Order: sequence, then C-alpha cells, then structure tokens
Amino acid sequence: MSENIMRIIDLRGKNLTRAELLDAMPRAEMGTSEATDLVRPILDDVKARGAAALRDFGEKFDGVRVENLRVPVEAMRQALEELDPEVRSAIEESVKRSRAVAASQVPHDFHTDLAPGARVAERWIPVQRVGLYVPGGKAVYPSSVIMNAVPAQAAGVESLAIATPPSKDDPQGLPNKTILATCAILGVDEVYAVGGAQAIAMFAYGAKGSEPQDGDVLCDPVDKITGPGNIFVATAKSLVSAFVGIDAVAGPTEIGIIADAQANPKFLAADLIGQAEHDELAGSVLFTDSTDIADAVQAELLERVPRTKHAERVRTSLSGRQSAIVLTDGLDQSIDAANAYAAEHLEIQTVDADAVVGRVRNAGAIFRGPYSPVPLGDYMSGSNHVLPTGGTARFAAGLGVHTFMKPVEVIEYDEQGLKELAARVNAFAVSEDLPGHGECVLTRFVDDPYDKATL
Ligand code: NAD
Repeated sequence: MSENIMRIIDLRGKNLTRAELLDAMPRAEMGTSEATDLVRPILDDVKARGAAALRDFGEKFDGVRVENLRVPVEAMRQALEELDPEVRSAIEESVKRSRAVAASQVPHDFHTDLAPGARVAERWIPVQRVGLYVPGGKAVYPSSVIMNAVPAQAAGVESLAIATPPSKDDPQGLPNKTILATCAILGVDEVYAVGGAQAIAMFAYGAKGSEPQDGDVLCDPVDKITGPGNIFVATAKSLVSAFVGIDAVAGPTEIGIIADAQANPKFLAADLIGQAEHDELAGSVLFTDSTDIADAVQAELLERVPRTKHAERVRTSLSGRQSAIVLTDGLDQSIDAANAYAAEHLEIQTVDADAVVGRVRNAGAIFRGPYSPVPLGDYMSGSNHVLPTGGTARFAAGLGVHTFMKPVEVIEYDEQGLKELAARVNAFAVSEDLPGHGECVLTRFVDDPYDKATL
C-alpha cells in the first residue's frame, strides 16, 4: 500500500496549554523576511520611476512588456462580447447574489441621546478611492473581481481601480479576458495590467507616466488596498500599511474541516483537494475524533490525487507542513483545535452542525453542513471569498461592505449639554495637568476661566 499523503498530528490524550495548542497547528514556513528583502526594492523603484518601473517588473516577473498599462475600455467591452455565455451566466448569478448580501451589509448611521442637548451620532463614510488587487499568477480569479468590487460599490466608494497581472499569452499583455469581461459587467473601467508587489506599490504611491499614452500621471494613489494575492502581494501590502489602508492579509488559502464519524470521506477528501489546488503553500487541515474517518480520507486521497488535473501541486500542498489530519479525543477538542488554527474557511461536517457553528470563535467564514462546500463560497454563495489567512482570523474579518467604509462619530452638544458637564470636564483636565483643556470649556460660561475665584 502506498504511503499516506497527509501527515497526522495526534492530540489524543494531550492536555495542551493555549500556547502549546497554537504551536501544534500546521502552518507554512512563509519566509516573510526573504519576501521582504525582495519586495522592498520593488516598492522603492515604483515610487521613484512610476510606469517605467512597472513595465520593467512586468517584463521580469510576468514575461511580457506592457505598453498600455491601463487597459483600454474597448478591450473590456470586447472581452465581454466574446465571453462564453455559460460563464457569463455564472458571473451574472454570482454578481446578483453578492449584491443582495452586500445590500444588507450596508451599516446604518445612528445616534445616542445622553441628556438634553447631548448627542453622539455615528456616520458611516465610504473610503474615497480604493485599489483592488485581483490575483492572476498560477490561476486567474475573475471571481475575485466580484468579491472586491461588489462590496466597494455597495459602500458607495467614489473611485475604484483594479490591478491584475498581464498575460504573457496576449501579444499586448492584456490581462485574462474573463477578468476583463467581469470588470465590464460590473462597470469598472479603471483597470491596470500590473501584478505582484509592483501593483501594490502603484496603488500606494501612485505612478507617474513614462510613455505618451500614460499621460503625466498613470495612476493616482488610493486610500485603501484590498484583495488576495501570493506572498509578494501580501508582503507588499504589509509594508505599505503604515500609510495606506489594507484589508486583512489574505495570503495562501486554507481550509479547516471539523468532521465526526458520520461525515462522508469522499466529500472530505474532495474538499481538501479543492483547496490544495490553489497553491503549493495552501493549507488543508482535517480535525476529527474518528480514526476510521482519518483512514478513509487518506485512502480517498490516494485514489483521487493522481486523477485530479493539478495532481503535483495538490500533492505538494497536502503533504506540506501546513497541511495535516489532526486527531482529537472528541468534538470538544476538535473545536478547540479549529479555534486555535483559525482557518480562512472552516467546514463543519458533523451531526449537530448548528451546535458546532455556535462554538466557533475563529474562522474567516464558516461553511455549515455537507452541502455548503468552500467552492460554493468561492464563486456564488453570495458570501465573500476574500478572507483572512495564516491564523489572522483570530482578530480579522473577511471583505465586506464595512471594509470600504469608516465609522465617524459626530459630537453634537449644545450650550445646555456642555454646561452640565463643564465642571467635570475641567476636573478631568486638571487631573491630567492639561488645564488649557478645561479652560476651553469654561471660557464658554465664565468671563475669566483663569480666575479660579469665578469658577
Ligand atoms: P498573484 O497575482 O498573487 O501573483 C502573481 C504576481 O506575483 C506576478 O504578477 C508577479 O509580478 C509576482 N511574482 C511572481 N514571482 C515573483 C518573484 N519571484 N519575485 C517577485 N514577484 C513575483 O497570483 P498567484 O501567484 O496565483 O497567487 C494567488 C494567491 O492568492 C494564491 O496563494 C491563492 O491561494 C490566493 N488567494 C487567496 C484568497 C483569499 O481570500 N485568501 C482568494 C483567492 C486567491
């Protein structure tokens, strides 16, 4: 019998501390410091040389020198005309469902009245200009256009630009045609054939033109950058996040599955493979208290992996240190371990799925029951597929309308409301040795706020 593809992490009989449990979870060696060394000069060069650097990096990393870095609107219109009707129907259904969910996500302004003349209101304001990254290296992701653009549009973002790698199979280096057609369907007309860290630099710093067709300015800087990408994209986003907004780091993808003895091993194996197909660094982790299920899944993988199209990528990913079958003492330990792992996607394939869902604390998105597999969410469940990875789901959320809006408090006190608090604000200010703060308030009510006798 061939050797199993996935390694086992056996937690049975172990009473681990929180730190030990976190440490036991399978994670990729990200090599972030190497990526930082590679990415920093790319950022600096784009900042200094703008479009000329973007053309050079496209040639170096994507194998094509792109003259029209900004994709002509006509190319998007043509891509839509040529789009396979079946794919168009799938894209339109996905857009429809995503728009329906996004519409319900729009947060509402509210206010709280604390006393007569004392109100604090909260206004949700859209980010003004955003840069959306759509990956396109090993696979192409027209679905990521939808996942980025739909919530941004629902939020009311005024100016929206997309960057996606050029295609070396196209004589002009135009990006993937399905991506361009999806942009046309969504009415996005500012699209750049720029990928990787250089795209993130273009969004963060803006880029001056270097050819007549660019004009003086190829791309204006944005206020926030969102979207998934490989290690270079994720590292570039972290580096620019000191001065431009980013969403959660959505790096190489992951699935966690909590399964009990009743789960279907065929479904489990297919779902682990489906995730591994994305990337050699993708993580696929099964949490189960059933050794029968673990064995059956290993057997299914041996049978299925050689038959799937991207067999080598899948095998590398499933046998990598970031993937494992985690054996537990029972459902409680499976849930604890899944919470420690904090999967980007977490499937629940257990008898009482609702009870398990209610106990999940950390996950980018939860896929409840055997008929809610992750690829449904990748394409058209209506939910968003840009989700936090690498354990960041412990504190971060996936993309949604909220990503593209900021809550701003509006303080609305009138004379009566302020007078009521004047003495107490002053007392606070004096206690912090900032009497000028108190004087701001007092000066509105007394002739001489510096004269303690009048207070
Ligand atoms: P990508 O667009 O992220 O990266 C391609 C770009 O990387 C190229 O344009 C090139 O400029 C750059 N690049 C390639 N080799 C380089 C090198 N040696 N040095 C510097 N730059 C280099 O596409 P990809 O590579 O297919 O990666 C997509 C990633 O996005 C996958 O890991 C996938 O799992 C992930 N993803 C995540 C989510 C999520 O929500 N977490 C969703 C979709 C995709």
